[in-house]
Amino acid sequence: MSCEISTNKPVHLKRITLAGALFLLLLAAVISAFMLYRNALVSDMQRKQALYLDLVELRGKVAGFEKSREITSMDESATIKVMQFMLDEVLESAAAAGKPDIPGVLLRKRNDRGYFSSANREVFLLALDSSTRKAETELRIALDACIRISNIFVMTVSFLFVALLFASWRRFYINYSMTLIPLSRLAQKIGMINKNIPESIHDTAEEIRNDLAAAQQSWEISRITDTIADFCKDIEAKNKKLDELYIRDEKTNLYNYRHFKEHLIMEIERSKRLDDKVSMAMIDIDHFKRYNDENGHVAGDHVLEQLAGIIGNTCRTSDMPSRFGGEEFAVLFPRTGIDTAMQISDRLRMIISAEPVDHEKKQPSGRLTVSIGIATFPDDAQDWYTLVNNADRALYHAKSAGRNRVTAFSTIKSKEDNP
Ligand code: GH3
Ligand code: MG
Ligand code: MG
Repeated sequence: MSCEISTNKPVHLKRITLAGALFLLLLAAVISAFMLYRNALVSDMQRKQALYLDLVELRGKVAGFEKSREITSMDESATIKVMQFMLDEVLESAAAAGKPDIPGVLLRKRNDRGYFSSANREVFLLALDSSTRKAETELRIALDACIRISNIFVMTVSFLFVALLFASWRRFYINYSMTLIPLSRLAQKIGMINKNIPESIHDTAEEIRNDLAAAQQSWEISRITDTIADFCKDIEAKNKKLDELYIRDEKTNLYNYRHFKEHLIMEIERSKRLDDKVSMAMIDIDHFKRYNDENGHVAGDHVLEQLAGIIGNTCRTSDMPSRFGGEEFAVLFPRTGIDTAMQISDRLRMIISAEPVDHEKKQPSGRLTVSIGIATFPDDAQDWYTLVNNADRALYHAKSAGRNRVTAFSTIKSKEDNP
């Protein structure tokens, strides 16, 4: 299984990072625009404030002028000059504040010296009051605009701050609910697999995958879950291979002696419980030493493979064909009496004898043949060990009787009992 860990950021994380960067950029742009606009409003308000203060000052000067003239003994013409100078100041402030119309009446009278005389002083004061009120109104509007924009600014920044807090909290919550919770469940399940070692690791891993898929989980957790499920699948496939290696004979691919023995013992126990029968056949190739000597061990190995194929195909699916060792095979016939075991074994012997085999002409009989000994539990033996020995004894009888034949232990036993 290939299990590559990518160091690249997943696409959705790239998107989140991009969205975050765009959000910060937007925030900076909004704050900058606000600041620029607010500064412009404040400057405007300051200029209007200066106009208002100039007007208030001028009015103060004009209202208290008679008094100051008495103290300083200024004449009418000097007084008019001072007032004209102060009025110029006001006009400059008005131009700077962008409100040249406020002191409009004053502007029109600027060069009318009679207008500034003592006789017109009251009218001049009324004109000044009107301009001052207008300037005050303008100042209040500008001040209100400043306060309004400051409020909007504070509210917007507060809103964005709350939005940022909410987004962070949501990110944390998503991280917690879609990553940490599934991760801890995954760890729990893996712990359970390790403790209980289930029959099928792969099925259990698939169960975990389905179980976690039902809950919301992050992309990373899905990936870890998938990797674990694939990993378990892989382990199971390898375990299966190991199991096969453990029970199979490498050369013939039939079951090995260990597996045969385990099943023989199990079948005998089962037969004891159910009062049933179990038979076995011991098969040995006739004159195989000679075959090897004549044709070499590689050719001999091919014969072993060929005969293993025939034995495997001739047996029933419930039977257990095995390689006992060397050039000997054993077949276990569960729930089978001597008659059926003899029938199957004799069919097998005939098929092998009829099967064309390389170089068999050089064999003593001109054909490659096998001899078979059969024994049945409980008729011929009371335990697995004696059953194997008695099948072997029957095999040797088949050999000494001329080979290429099947002999049941029961027949040689009755001959021994009644010679
Ligand atoms: P018999 O008919 O009495 O059984 O004669 P035999 O020659 O078959 O018996 P013997 O026990 O004298 O010889 C068995 C031979 O089987 C000897 C050995 O070289 C051969 N043999 C055992 N295992 C293998 C194997 O894995 N490959 C090959 N090619 N030969 C094997
Ligand atoms: Mg032998
Ligand atoms: Mg032999």
